[in-house]
Amino acid sequence: MRKRSINTTLGEVATSISMSKTKQKRAKYIFIVGGVMSGVGKGIAASSIGKILQARGLAVTALKIDPYINVDAGTMNPTEHGEVFVLQDGYETDQDMGNYERFMGLTLDRGNYMTTGSVYKSVIDRERNLEYKGQCVEVVPHIPLEVIGRIRKAAKKARADVAIIEIGGTIGEYQNILFLEAVRMMKIECPEDVLVALVSYLPIPGKIGEMKTKPTQYASRTLNSAGIQADIIIARSALPLDEKRKEKIATFCSLRKDSIVSAPDVDSIYDVPLNFEKDNLSAILLKKLGLRAKKNTLDEWRKAVASSKASVKPVRIAVVGKYFKTGDFVLSDVYISVIEALKHAAFASGRKPELTWIDSEEYEEDSDRVSELREYDGVLIPGGFGSRGVEGKITAIRFCRENKIPYFGICYGMQLLVIEYARHVAGLASAHTTEVDAKTKYPIIDILPEQRAKLARKDYGGSMRLGAYQAVIAAKTLARLAYGEDAVMERHRHRYEVNPEYVGDLRKAGLVFSGTSPDGRLMEIAELPKAVHPFFLATQFHPEFQSSLLHPHPLFLAFLKACVKQREMVQG
Ligand code: GLN
Repeated sequence: MRKRSINTTLGEVATSISMSKTKQKRAKYIFIVGGVMSGVGKGIAASSIGKILQARGLAVTALKIDPYINVDAGTMNPTEHGEVFVLQDGYETDQDMGNYERFMGLTLDRGNYMTTGSVYKSVIDRERNLEYKGQCVEVVPHIPLEVIGRIRKAAKKARADVAIIEIGGTIGEYQNILFLEAVRMMKIECPEDVLVALVSYLPIPGKIGEMKTKPTQYASRTLNSAGIQADIIIARSALPLDEKRKEKIATFCSLRKDSIVSAPDVDSIYDVPLNFEKDNLSAILLKKLGLRAKKNTLDEWRKAVASSKASVKPVRIAVVGKYFKTGDFVLSDVYISVIEALKHAAFASGRKPELTWIDSEEYEEDSDRVSELREYDGVLIPGGFGSRGVEGKITAIRFCRENKIPYFGICYGMQLLVIEYARHVAGLASAHTTEVDAKTKYPIIDILPEQRAKLARKDYGGSMRLGAYQAVIAAKTLARLAYGEDAVMERHRHRYEVNPEYVGDLRKAGLVFSGTSPDGRLMEIAELPKAVHPFFLATQFHPEFQSSLLHPHPLFLAFLKACVKQREMVQG
């Protein structure tokens, strides 16, 4: 393959990003950038583009670039940034990585995620190791070159025909300029291999009642000022784009009309790939990238979306958590993978999920309120940290146990189940987690010695059990029935564990640990036998990270089945 350099002024460094000399196929790169405002659905657009290209027989991978200094998403408060999505290899990333995995059926790794902090960190580490051989290491070009190197490496590792790279934030922000510089450099180097899609937003202001294109024109121009011309504009709006506005955007943003894709609001994110294809997006992308591909095979997806829409009978689930509020607004983004996993399993059970957020602190102010949980077909408590709302969650778990309401706990939701059981059934009245009460008489949930050492060093970034571990599933349990397998791999993100010293007492009191680490030391799933409760099960790991529309997670399916049964029983 021919060697190309970015341009002469970049000289020697440019060769480091030149095309590989090996036989490996040459990847194409689609950058997704956002205009006008955040939250317009870049992640879903990136995931959907990936999906429609996969349906044309292409190998696709996806990367997310986040412009903050945090080296990964692990140290951020969920209300700041939404869910932390944990990859198979334990890397703590942005929730968009979850969308990519769910839509495209991929298992991504740390090479698919970067932040400004992680990029700077490796450049500085390399400089300290004398890897730049005495050069003056500068923000430009070395930072963008590091970015480009990482993108190419990820594409190569995945043997991708197309790598989709989403740049977080909005065009015009100071923060993502160096990433745009990387795009510009790649485009100069190989214009035919790089495509930029601008996901923009067209407001329809209430008083005016007309869809406005001006903010998109400005976004396009701002992108131009970074030296980049968008190849495609994905026009997000409440309504579909009409021809007049398509023409206007085309004229003012220097594109042909067929490069403007309408992306109206939809009921379900899973509609987006199908909507994109209404504007023939995969064909447009293939043409622009000079790729040949097979005929479209989106049928499996189309069928799954159709069957999700056919699910009209409701199933009502209460999600009891604490990270819901942001100012005067509700932020369910924090539990996005849990929500999606509930949806996948509900659709597969032929039901429409109706999810209600309950702030567990409300049960602390007034514990009688917990009886409202009777109105639900099931209760789920997702992961969490710290002491706020903990007693309210324990009250909710107790209510579910005593009233035989299906309960599914995840991570903290399992630790609190174990505490509830220890306190009210096993006779260990003041049982607690040392996360909340370091001096508890019964530290039922405690930190492992190896993690304790890291915490003592204030090494919070590396003090959790992260990523996929194997769990062995005991025969004749709910978990085994659900999985149909005797060992599974599931992803973790926690510091604390069920204290091995109390496992015997808890078992004696009737709690079943149906999943454990292969050496039997760590408790991974707790449940009550079916004869005692219809569904009372919780996992130390996060099953939600591995659920998708086409492959709902077995434990979520089992929970939903129990919820549907509960509803039928109550309603007769
Ligand atoms: N706070 C608990 C721990 O660190 C649970 C974490 C979680 O729910 N993800 O172990």
